[in-house]
Amino acid sequence: MNIHFMVTETDNPVRVMGLHSLTYCERLYYLEEVENILIADERVYAGRNFHEEIRVDNQDIGRVETFEYTSEKLGLTGKADRLQKRDGVWIPYEHKIGRSKTSGTEKDAWEPDKIQVTAYALLIEEASGRMLPEGRIKYRRDNTLIKVELNEEIRHKTLATIERAKEIRKEIHRPPVAENANLCVRCSLAPVCLPEENRSLEDNDYDAARLFVPHREKETVHITGYKTRVSKKGETVEIIKNDDYDKTEKVRFPVNEIESVNLHGAVSISAQLISFLSYQKIPIHWFSGGGTYIGGLNSNPGTPQRKIRQYEALTDGKIRFYLTKKLAIAKCETQLRYILRATRKSDRAIGQLEAINGMRENLKKMAEVDNVDAIRGYEGSIARIYHQIIPTLLLPEVPNHMFPNGRTKRPPKDRYNAIQSFLYSLLYKSVYQAIIAVGLEPDFGFFHTARSSASPLVLDIMELFRTPICDIPLVGSVNRLSWDIKEDFEITSEKVWLSDNGRKKAITIYESRLNDSWKHPVLGYSLTYYRMIEMETRFLEKEWSDQAGLFARARLR
Ligand code: SF4
Repeated sequence: MNIHFMVTETDNPVRVMGLHSLTYCERLYYLEEVENILIADERVYAGRNFHEEIRVDNQDIGRVETFEYTSEKLGLTGKADRLQKRDGVWIPYEHKIGRSKTSGTEKDAWEPDKIQVTAYALLIEEASGRMLPEGRIKYRRDNTLIKVELNEEIRHKTLATIERAKEIRKEIHRPPVAENANLCVRCSLAPVCLPEENRSLEDNDYDAARLFVPHREKETVHITGYKTRVSKKGETVEIIKNDDYDKTEKVRFPVNEIESVNLHGAVSISAQLISFLSYQKIPIHWFSGGGTYIGGLNSNPGTPQRKIRQYEALTDGKIRFYLTKKLAIAKCETQLRYILRATRKSDRAIGQLEAINGMRENLKKMAEVDNVDAIRGYEGSIARIYHQIIPTLLLPEVPNHMFPNGRTKRPPKDRYNAIQSFLYSLLYKSVYQAIIAVGLEPDFGFFHTARSSASPLVLDIMELFRTPICDIPLVGSVNRLSWDIKEDFEITSEKVWLSDNGRKKAITIYESRLNDSWKHPVLGYSLTYYRMIEMETRFLEKEWSDQAGLFARARLR
């Protein structure tokens, strides 16, 4: 049965700001006004502060009113920066922080700004019952005031733009990226839209510019240890820790510098802080004392379009197969490349050579199959070989206690597996957070089935990162003898867990790995693993939203 979804037309009026976006780029309008993705970058903040300054000044000298009006007839709503009466007629003013459009000595207003000021004029005319002759736009950077004549042409364009805005709102699918790449350089939604990546797919020789910050901008806060309380103190998160002798240690983090708060074991958090962080859209994650990811409070006010598209795509058998194959090949090739790289300097033992050949053969067969079960079979075989070969990568000086005895998960039965399971829990959290940020449904995946409490889509995307973000640093840390076989572990006859000390070490290894920069082999620019997780999640969403072919192309070198 085919299910087709339609977004019913919303009765909400179109925002005048939305018309500004639409005139700039239809896709920008869709992302902001339909998908509700708003990123306040520095330019947006600068604009907002500027508007605040204007309002305060103008109120002080008492010559300006802020005008807000909704027209049912036009289906339009907006709030003009300023409205001033000159010679008995009202004139709407719009203030822009940038420069006017300059050609030689001629200065003019930009088209989106003209549409915006005209839209305000249309609202004012309806409210006042009088025609307005002009609008004015003030550009701060070049201190220019442009008068916009409200003639038939601009009025017609503005009305047509309102109608176009209403039409685009009904669409499930995003408009294509702007033809003019220059628009994207100044677009605040470029990190979400990823237009350069689309262009690079259409033209192999295209040199994609990186239009987003390549590293994490805020701090990930991990809180471990019993007798620890976390609460809100003004605009900060305060961590109070008492040791066994009831000596108190206090640390504070300003909320605007925090990316997420992660609570490990018996840490208590105040209800006030939970609600404050949720309001600030800062995710909170809980891990059990044994290192298992319990859950998160992670909100994204996105609209349903993204989830509807995800559902439509992932109920299509062909798309599921295509994505499963891409993912499995990417994962297995990365595992093989790691093994080749890790054994490059040594004379490969016979067992290692056989394992490498086995992985290659399975990969070759996997590339030829046409059904999901066969892919799962080959992927499973390669994973078994991979986990068998890992102990051969450990150096002779590594103590026997640190060697893995196969792969044991729930619960881990040896020290190596205890660290690995905890690193995978941290990775689960990072991927889960990225999925929510992108606005997807974590429980609806394509490769993993819903067999446990773990969300299938999180498990799917994790497959791309287990080796580079968890396995490689783990083997490195074991070979550097970074682990204390007594202090870092808690051992019972049933299971092996990380101690508080061990957890802190693993968190340090994981977070520092996320900060490692890595050059995307296909797109040609560098970014950290932290950003790579979000990027691959966005690429996956693009597979069914606007541009197939970007997901799972990166490989370990
Ligand atoms: S990045 Fe470019 S294509 Fe994407 S929304 Fe912005 S202007 Fe449009």
